[in-house]
Amino acid sequence: MPRDRFGRDINYLRLSVIDHCNLRCVYCMPLRGLKFVPSDELLTAAEIELVARAAVGVGFHKFRLTGGEPTLRPDIVDIVGRIASIEGARDVAMTTNAILLPRLAKPLREAGLTRLNIHVDTLNPERLKKLMRFGTIDEIEAGIAAAEEAGLTPIKINSVVTRDYNERDVVDLARRAKERGWHVRFIELMPLGGGEAAHVALSQFVPSRETRQRIEAELGPLLPAASGGPSDESSNFRFADGDGIVGFISPVSEPYCGTCNRMRLTADGKFHLCLLNDDELDVKRAIRSGGGEPAVAEILRKAVLGKPTGHRLDEGVSTEERSMFQIGG
Ligand code: SAM
Ligand code: SF4
Repeated sequence: MPRDRFGRDINYLRLSVIDHCNLRCVYCMPLRGLKFVPSDELLTAAEIELVARAAVGVGFHKFRLTGGEPTLRPDIVDIVGRIASIEGARDVAMTTNAILLPRLAKPLREAGLTRLNIHVDTLNPERLKKLMRFGTIDEIEAGIAAAEEAGLTPIKINSVVTRDYNERDVVDLARRAKERGWHVRFIELMPLGGGEAAHVALSQFVPSRETRQRIEAELGPLLPAASGGPSDESSNFRFADGDGIVGFISPVSEPYCGTCNRMRLTADGKFHLCLLNDDELDVKRAIRSGGGEPAVAEILRKAVLGKPTGHRLDEGVSTEERSMFQIGG
């Protein structure tokens, strides 16, 4: 297993496959002024498979497809199938806004997708429109139902808590987790990219402590629950009565860099060494100049060794070059 300079085992590769999105969440994608990667600069399905094969050879075994919105790639089912068929790829997951799942959940499952994280910030239709601008709650609910029907359970929900938009709606989402046995994870805003979205992330920040207090005031005390493993970034809790898990992901108020096990690949073929840092290593150039699996593996090993110890958000340092929709969370 690849180990970095700080003794962390890095075995989880998050692959951003596209930088387009059908929604425009206010803290992620501004409405105007965006530059997208031209389609011939995106890694192809075969190139993504090559990177995943090299990663397995280096000791990675967990993969997650993300974006932008990964389901917008016309070849997303093919990409999932290619990664899932690699011997040694034990977990092939996806993070999605669920809008296209009614059509895709079943084929994705059949191609070998093991798990899904679905992003929904509020169950309130009006407030959802303000926050996840082009999505509706009915579409997202239909996507969740399709995921459940396809057997992609238990459903994990990601909810980004944003002041003046949805900070009070966390109670309804937690209640829904309890009723439906969902695992809902409340995420602290992170400022990436230095533009309008980063400004929202800084000015509308809500600490997890406050979100937890709000939930406990309405639904009773939350009791510690098992974590998903040593590098699970979510602190998990259960209810005294009823099913469901409520988790808090707190990169800003309680950084978990010491247990980070991730490497990221951008849609235009760069290893991005830490979510909240600009350091990258180009792998596409090596592939397109004829480098095969050994060349990719070599760059990946370098990327692991180059991973920074942690982020420096408390010093006001974050990514300037990349926004969340370009890295994938
Ligand atoms: N479009 C998919 C989605 O929304 O799930 C996948 C890509 S999105 C960039 C991945 C995750 O990043 C989302 O689930 C959302 O929870 C999270 N996210 C986006 N912008 C964020 C920000 N500024 N701070 C914290 N989390 C953010
Ligand atoms: Fe799109 Fe996901 Fe970013 Fe929202 S968080 S704009 S759904 S990429």
